[in-house]
Amino acid sequence: NGAAPTDHTQRLLPVLQEYWGYDSFRPLQAEAMGCVLSGRDSVVVLPTGGGKSLCFQAPALAMEGLAVVVSPLISLMKDQVDALTAGGASAAFVNSTLSADERRDVAERVRSGEVKLLYAAPERLLAARTLEFLQSVNVSLFAIDEAHCISSWGHDFRPEYRGLRTLKERFPGVGIHAYTATASEQVRQDIAQQLGLQDPEFLVGSFDRPNLLYRVRHSQNRFGEVCDLVNARKGDSGIVYCISRKEVDATAAALRELGVRAAPYHAGLSDSDRQRNQDRFLKEEIDVVVATVAFGMGIDKSNVRYVIHAGMPKSLEAYQQESGRAGRDGLDSECTLLYQPRDAMTWRRLMASSGENHDGALAALAGMEAYASGVVCRHRALVGYFGQDLGKDNCGACDICLAEVDLIDDPLVTAQKIVSCVARLEERFGGDYTAKVLAGSREQRIVDQGHDRLSTHGLLEADGVKVIRGWIDQLMGQGYLEKAGEFGTLAITATGWSLLKGEASPRLARPAVKKAARRAASGGAE
Ligand code: ADP
Ligand code: ZN
Repeated sequence: NGAAPTDHTQRLLPVLQEYWGYDSFRPLQAEAMGCVLSGRDSVVVLPTGGGKSLCFQAPALAMEGLAVVVSPLISLMKDQVDALTAGGASAAFVNSTLSADERRDVAERVRSGEVKLLYAAPERLLAARTLEFLQSVNVSLFAIDEAHCISSWGHDFRPEYRGLRTLKERFPGVGIHAYTATASEQVRQDIAQQLGLQDPEFLVGSFDRPNLLYRVRHSQNRFGEVCDLVNARKGDSGIVYCISRKEVDATAAALRELGVRAAPYHAGLSDSDRQRNQDRFLKEEIDVVVATVAFGMGIDKSNVRYVIHAGMPKSLEAYQQESGRAGRDGLDSECTLLYQPRDAMTWRRLMASSGENHDGALAALAGMEAYASGVVCRHRALVGYFGQDLGKDNCGACDICLAEVDLIDDPLVTAQKIVSCVARLEERFGGDYTAKVLAGSREQRIVDQGHDRLSTHGLLEADGVKVIRGWIDQLMGQGYLEKAGEFGTLAITATGWSLLKGEASPRLARPAVKKAARRAASGGAE
């Protein structure tokens, strides 16, 4: 079990001081660094902003030899190496952007022992020549960043990570340390297994970020709502995430027209444009970065006061990571998700066309949908997804606990009406159709099928199709209904059947978009 963390703490504090100017550890950093120093394999799970990088960087500087860091993104690598170099540490990276001469130069600096940290993407690291080279020098440790990429259970599976297994065989005496912000037990175990770790230490930090205020809005007019939210916080640093590049460009342009200092950030921009927009954001020359949900990894600014998702991310891991870019300085910040049920369909389509529609990714998407349509405390739902307990009833920092959401008084009765209508329709129709039947629609299709004569026809007439449709999403989010079959017809789950017997306590909220938008606007000034 290595030495007690306190011994290592003694040894590393001066390093923290010298290179970063920090004088204490964040939670679990000392323990994680202890593993690195003692060579015990480890899997370290900390939320975004938790300080994972330091867990291997500081020991790397204190240890003999070369630390090898595996990182998936070239932009991320460069940022880290730049930051280390600026702090006086010697670090380098090898990737496809380097010329042969530059690569030779890096190899020379590694061989002379000058470089303490070498960053590489997995495909580069695993090239036969690189491995041979590394076997000829003294490797102190392997750090695998974004380690969930090795697991097909994770939300960001990268097949090239699978080859990292060979590290344990080729470098049997060298500790391997995996870092991720994805905490599901399954992914954690999979990481350890795929890497062939030996009796690894698992260190899992708390996932709650109490300074973040979480809200979900069922959005009607996303564009206008983003503009309102940004306008309400003029002058503050913020990030707006959109699903597509097209939306990013349009949103950035619309914000600029409103006089907001905004710039786009996505994979379609050249590296230099992206870098420039990021730098301007860091230097506060612009206030808002509009990015694609798939491309926010590089943005690291401590005083981001709000993050708006103008579109649902494809997993709660991604949402946690992206929204987690707000309030890294620990000050109050806001995270708002503007959600439309069709976001999930958009993702399914994108996943299918990129061949990414495996079980892990689809389950992750379902988890995200459940969060967005659910009506339970957001902090509880988020940490719950990562297998943790919130430890308090009212978080005081989400739309649910702050009672911004209009919960209806008789949710069980209303839910029973909806679920029994699904039963009467023999689970053969989708959400829109079911909502229309409950609202008492007499459109041709419904009359033709004789569904205007069902006992549940018109049962929720007073509420209207839109509201009922929202409730159906909420019931799906809470697991009483599910989509089934190739046509996505509504089916009743086991808990849905118990609900019909009165054995359940669903929660239903009346969509209150107008009211919510006003609150958000005044909330910004409080
Ligand atoms: P992660 O990789 O877990 O998202 P980072 O390693 O990027 O997090 O760290 C997030 C921020 O916290 C960085 O700005 C980092 O310099 C800072 N940080 C990390 N450890 C400490 C510490 N012990 N004291 C103060 N700041 C820290
Ligand atoms: Zn709450």
